[in-house]
Amino acid sequence: MLFDLHVHTAISTCSRLTVAEILGNARARGLDGVCLTDHDTMAVREVVREGLQADGLCVIVGMEYSTGGGDFLLFGAFEDLAPGLCAEDLLALVEARRGAAVMAHPCRASRPGREELVAAGLTRLVELMNGRNTPEENARLAAWTRTYPLVGCGGSDAHSLAELGRVGTRLLTPVSSRTELVWALRRGLCRPERRQESERPQSGACADPDCPPVPAG
Ligand SMILES: [Zn+2]
Ligand SMILES: [Zn+2]
Repeated sequence: MLFDLHVHTAISTCSRLTVAEILGNARARGLDGVCLTDHDTMAVREVVREGLQADGLCVIVGMEYSTGGGDFLLFGAFEDLAPGLCAEDLLALVEARRGAAVMAHPCRASRPGREELVAAGLTRLVELMNGRNTPEENARLAAWTRTYPLVGCGGSDAHSLAELGRVGTRLLTPVSSRTELVWALRRGLCRPERRQESERPQSGACADPDCPPVPAG
């Protein structure tokens, strides 16, 4: 099953992508599931029915949590989570609640993930492919995979419809709920997957200055 693990709705102030656009286009982009990961909030659950939709798309609500040690895609019971935890405390809490935390775009110049957290074994789930990564960032991540026993994921980090599904995560077990996604991620039953050039949607520049540019290729 192919999931886009990292999608921002317009609830994220930096995104202009609506829930209706995501739900209306995900299947046509070849996706079996989308994870809605707004910045520091799971509020999108108030406007979307989580789980399998009528067209077979699986919608899962997570969030992208910001720490000084990097951004983490969180999946599990984190609706009550207040912003402001440091990375170590966040990862300990995620483990205590048996959730899943994916270090997002670790090599991004503007919001890097701290390599020591990976070196210390505090997280092994890493977003090895991100639709907004530059080729240089992807090259640095490839070096990480030679150094650490990582479990890789991928996500578009879409902030606009053009980006949705550009990069995904191949799940190696059936997933139709948040619980099943957490189970698959915790067991490492996933790998990042970049769409073939011919089936990738055209990228579009986001007018919001907070959004990093979408690199070509
Ligand atoms: Zn954003
Ligand atoms: Zn993001």
